[in-house]
Amino acid sequence: MSSPDFNEESKPPLCRLCEGETALAFTHRILGKYPSGYWQCTVCGSLETDAPFWLEESYADVHSATDTGMAARTVQMTQAVSLLLRMAGVGSKTLCLDWGGGNGLFCRMMRDQGYNFFNDDKYAKPFYCAGFTADRIGIAKCDVVTSFEVFEHLSNPKAELANILRFEPKLWIFSTQLYAGQGADWNYLGPSLGRHVFFYSAEALHAFAEANGYRFIRGWNLHMFVKAQGNPYAQRPAFRFGARRLLAGGKLAGLAAGMNFLARQRNAYRYWQADSDSVRQNQSASHS
Ligand SMILES: [Zn+2]
Repeated sequence: MSSPDFNEESKPPLCRLCEGETALAFTHRILGKYPSGYWQCTVCGSLETDAPFWLEESYADVHSATDTGMAARTVQMTQAVSLLLRMAGVGSKTLCLDWGGGNGLFCRMMRDQGYNFFNDDKYAKPFYCAGFTADRIGIAKCDVVTSFEVFEHLSNPKAELANILRFEPKLWIFSTQLYAGQGADWNYLGPSLGRHVFFYSAEALHAFAEANGYRFIRGWNLHMFVKAQGNPYAQRPAFRFGARRLLAGGKLAGLAAGMNFLARQRNAYRYWQADSDSVRQNQSASHS
C-alpha cells in the first residue's frame, strides 16, 4: 500500500550538498498538503526533502507566529558568541557579519557587547539594526560570520554555503540540529511550516569543512568552522581551551558566558550612543 504522504512520482534526488545518491527514509505532508519524501544521502548521511518548490508559500508570513523562542534564543546566542569572540581575541574593529540575521536583534545585541557586527538578510527588515546592514557598507570579506537557524533552511546548500565562504571567514559560528538517523517524529523536521528542508549529518559538515580548508568543531546546537591555516584567532590558548567546552554547552562555560555578557553589557550605552551618533551623521550627510 502506498503512503498517503508520498508522491509516487518523486524520484530520489541527488544530495543537494554533496551530489551523492539518496534513499527514501520516510515521508511527510508539507504545509499539510504537499507530499514529500525525506531522503537520506548514501554518501554524506544528510537528510533532505524533495526539491522545495513550496518555499514562497512557506515564507508568505516572514515571521512565524509559533516561533516564540526567538528572543530567548538570541540572548543565549549573544552570550555564547560574545565569550567565544573574546576568547579568540576578536577586537572592536574586526568586521563581523550575521548572515540571515532576520530582524537584526542579534546584530544589535552584539554591537552593544562591543563587537563590530553587521546584519545581512534577504527577506526581513532590519528592525533593530537599520544603519548596520551589510549592503550599506558593502562587505566583501570578514573574519567572523555567524548564521543561526539558517543552514536547515537552505534549498541549495552546496551553492548557498559556497556564497558564505566567499567572505573568507576565519571563524564561522552557526546553529543547526544535526541529523543522526532520527525518525519521522523528529520535531525539527517541521513539515507543517515547510521551512526546514535540509538536515546535516556531522560527517557531512566535517567533509564540507575539510574540502574548504576548515576544521569543523561540533557543539550541541552551536557549531563552528575554524579556518585551518593562517588563523591567528585559533592560536590563542583561551580559545583552544574554551571554544569546544562552550560549544558543547557545558554548565561552567555557560555560566562564564553569562558573567561575561553582564560585564560587557555595563558598557552597552557607550556603543549604542556611538552608533546612534554615526547613524545621525550618515542621515545628515545623505540629506545635504
Ligand atoms: Zn550528501
